[in-house]
Amino acid sequence: MRYLQLVNHDDAKMYRHVAFATAFTSYRKNEAAVIARFAEFQARIGMLHSLAKAGPPLNKVQDKLRNLYDCSIREVLEFKNAIRHQFGPGCPYCGENCTTPDIDHYLPRISYAEYSLYSWNLVPSCTQCNRIFSSSVAKGADFLYPFGDKFLKQRVLAVQFQWIGQAEFTINLKGRSNLGPAERTRIDHHISMLRLSERFANYAISEILSFRRLALKSGDLVNYLGLEAARHISVRGPNSWPSLLCDALASNQAMIAWLTRQAEASENP
Ligand SMILES: [Zn+2]
Repeated sequence: MRYLQLVNHDDAKMYRHVAFATAFTSYRKNEAAVIARFAEFQARIGMLHSLAKAGPPLNKVQDKLRNLYDCSIREVLEFKNAIRHQFGPGCPYCGENCTTPDIDHYLPRISYAEYSLYSWNLVPSCTQCNRIFSSSVAKGADFLYPFGDKFLKQRVLAVQFQWIGQAEFTINLKGRSNLGPAERTRIDHHISMLRLSERFANYAISEILSFRRLALKSGDLVNYLGLEAARHISVRGPNSWPSLLCDALASNQAMIAWLTRQAEASENP
């Protein structure tokens, strides 16, 4: 096993390892073909699912490449560890806080054996995203690609509060309205595939209850939420759940008024 290169991916300020084995003869015979596939992968970021599965023939090396990921040799484990920690805290698919990520094959290794241990195809992800990916027959569907799409770099998610009468509201996640139509469709599809709206709403409901107390304690709840949002963006990125929630609450007068009423009611029952 050896590491071929360390790539500086300037745009996202990430160093990407490229690993694969030279340990067995059949692989070495196919090295040029695999390297050509890597180049094709990088050239087609943004349209990864249109990568032709019929590249130059890999001469029956697929099974070995596929099994490389399951090797327990030290280099492979170190490699996977480097992949696991390159994004910092937070799952790059959903924005949920996640300290011990799994590793997802963006293009499934069953169909794309040559990318089984290729870093650009390995994405750290929270257990829930990984489970949805693995169990989904639509694995080949076009999810956002964390190394190439905007998810890591700019806010693409928006929170919607919708009031049902005086005391009840629903919470939904959507693609931001200032995105282009094609991009928004893609993001909405990503949200629906990962059941992100429902997952975020569960998180938000439990957090909002703790904001009730802050509403009274803090002289200026809007300012407090704004500062918290900025702090979470700097630590966990622009689509992290706490940052989305704090920003959405701060900019929604009805929610601020509701929080304040709730807090007052709990102080003076
Ligand atoms: Zn996730």
